[in-house]
Amino acid sequence: MSELHKFIFEGLPVRGMLVRLTDAWQDILARRAANSETGAYPAPVRQLLGEMAAAGVLMQGNIKFNGALVLQIFGDGPVKLGVVEVQPDLSLRATCTQVGEVADDATLSQMVNVNNEGRCAITLDPLGRLPGQQPYQGVVPLFGDRGEKLENISDVLEHYMLQSEQLDTVLVLAADDQVAAGLLIQRLPVEGEGNLAGQTGSQMRESVLGQSEDFSRISILTKSLKREELLGLDAETILHRLYWKEPLARFEPFVGETGPRFACRCNRERVGHMIRSLGTEEVEGILAEQGQVEVGCDFCGAQYRFDPVDAAGLFTGLPADLPPGAVH
Ligand SMILES: [Zn+2]
Repeated sequence: MSELHKFIFEGLPVRGMLVRLTDAWQDILARRAANSETGAYPAPVRQLLGEMAAAGVLMQGNIKFNGALVLQIFGDGPVKLGVVEVQPDLSLRATCTQVGEVADDATLSQMVNVNNEGRCAITLDPLGRLPGQQPYQGVVPLFGDRGEKLENISDVLEHYMLQSEQLDTVLVLAADDQVAAGLLIQRLPVEGEGNLAGQTGSQMRESVLGQSEDFSRISILTKSLKREELLGLDAETILHRLYWKEPLARFEPFVGETGPRFACRCNRERVGHMIRSLGTEEVEGILAEQGQVEVGCDFCGAQYRFDPVDAAGLFTGLPADLPPGAVH
């Protein structure tokens, strides 16, 4: 079963999280493979989306926010868009739109950042957002400080967290056709000036230096984790292997009902809103051509069909210019 583990290092300003998506990830891949239009993801796309899914759960688990966390990647390669959406209850869904061939050994830049136009966006969409209220969004490029292309989504997200939260973060991600997993370590901000009150200048410097040494040491341990270990070992073994000398304190893991799991939020009413937003003329055109309006959900593969009577029902009693979503 998929699981999220949170932990702290007692007395040290460092916290961490480990996620392993198994059933949730296999569910996402199986739904894609069952889609006769797209077929299964090629291996590099699967790895990218799996690493994004693991990162999305870690980022949602890391914030106190009542709303969806949406992680997106888009750019100028054959992978046009990758999306992972994680709800506050850790339910998640993910999909990738691919146009054109992806080679078996394609890198991140070859997939989504050919001319350095690739971007990664992190959106926090509050639950029950009012009409006109904008969700918070941060966008980062897929290149580093000197314009060099980044080849790991973990590097991109480490940059993002340093920029947006001013928090030093180490992120290790991996995914294959069975598991999508991630390990995150973050340095906590020093808790206010009061903490250091009564210390002389040199004591203060020593104390800050000590904290940064703790983080450096734990970072090095974290980065020593190999991809195969992250994918193949269970959480207990990974945490013990890396941090057995450290004062690790664990919280109750999130597993099963409270853990990460696949769930799609699509339904017929939302699809109806979307169709209505196309306008009468467009919808009549589709009906004339195809006899019905058929919409498939990219996340779960559900098919929604509206015959001419259903479609007409979407428009009856509603002013033509009413924005979608305004009526429930
Ligand atoms: Zn769906």
